[in-house]
Amino acid sequence: MPLPKAELHLHIEGTLEPDLAFELAARNGVKLPYADTDELREAYRFEDLQSFLDLYYELMAVLRTERDFEDLADAYLARAATQGVRHAEIFFDPQAHLARGLDMGTVVEGLWRALGRSEENHGISTKLIMCFLRDESADSALETLDAARPYLDRITGIGLDSAEVGHPPVKFREVYEAAAALGLRRVAHAGEEGPPEYIAEALDLLGVERVDHGLRCMEDPALVERLVRERIPLTLCPLSNVRLRAVDTLADHPLPAMLDAGLLCTVNSDDPAYFGGYAEDNFRAVRESLGLTEERLRELARNSFLASFLEDDEERRARYLAEVDAYAF
Ligand SMILES: [Zn+2]
Repeated sequence: MPLPKAELHLHIEGTLEPDLAFELAARNGVKLPYADTDELREAYRFEDLQSFLDLYYELMAVLRTERDFEDLADAYLARAATQGVRHAEIFFDPQAHLARGLDMGTVVEGLWRALGRSEENHGISTKLIMCFLRDESADSALETLDAARPYLDRITGIGLDSAEVGHPPVKFREVYEAAAALGLRRVAHAGEEGPPEYIAEALDLLGVERVDHGLRCMEDPALVERLVRERIPLTLCPLSNVRLRAVDTLADHPLPAMLDAGLLCTVNSDDPAYFGGYAEDNFRAVRESLGLTEERLRELARNSFLASFLEDDEERRARYLAEVDAYAF
């Protein structure tokens, strides 16, 4: 049994495996421009961010009904359970679906059909985080938040994802203020391909409680000191960083230096169907490539629960932490 962990940086659309893509395409009469799953699997070997995003958005066309979103989430949760995931805070990208003519209810209720039964079916507690696409306009983000109002009992927080450079956090200040007023938790991707200034801006202007990626904080010692002092969690995604060239090889990943600096780091899978591995695959990869000790791995697992939005159930958090402490490697 793998080390128990929480997954805090996971895009549900990024868990679409080739087999399920073909199954959903057949169910919905959507024609994919690939002969079979083998040819599609070849396409998953993209080499840069743009070819990844092209494929990612192309394949979303197979998601049409509540049942499709349910099947997508259910397939992820089943896999995550085998990877030691005990709690998952799952991102979704509503704008990508609304733009295709779906409504918010189809997406949220579909996902919820799987999430609502996740504990009994997979032994995983869940939360849902709605992300805004940062290359879309600020007005579009505000409209999306409005469309989500009837479903806020299902949604714990908001996030910010997609192409980072040229879309600084300040662009989304208004929608983050509106979300805070609605009692939503706040996270944002920052400092993956964008500069360290975006991390400080996300903290100061958007009020984020957790930074997704954030690895470029290492270029700014004062920022590192602040993140340590304020105990701001960072959700790192090592295999994703290699595939999207944020680092050259896994052996070059700054994770050990970040832990040495006292940063509250977690390890996550981002878009696992595309980036070569789920949560435990990432743990195994950093263990092998970076020589992390068992105590470091235990620290990462503890951090994942400490950084999770389980303030509404501290008893559960304590139970998960006890599982990590009792884990025998
Ligand atoms: Zn991400």
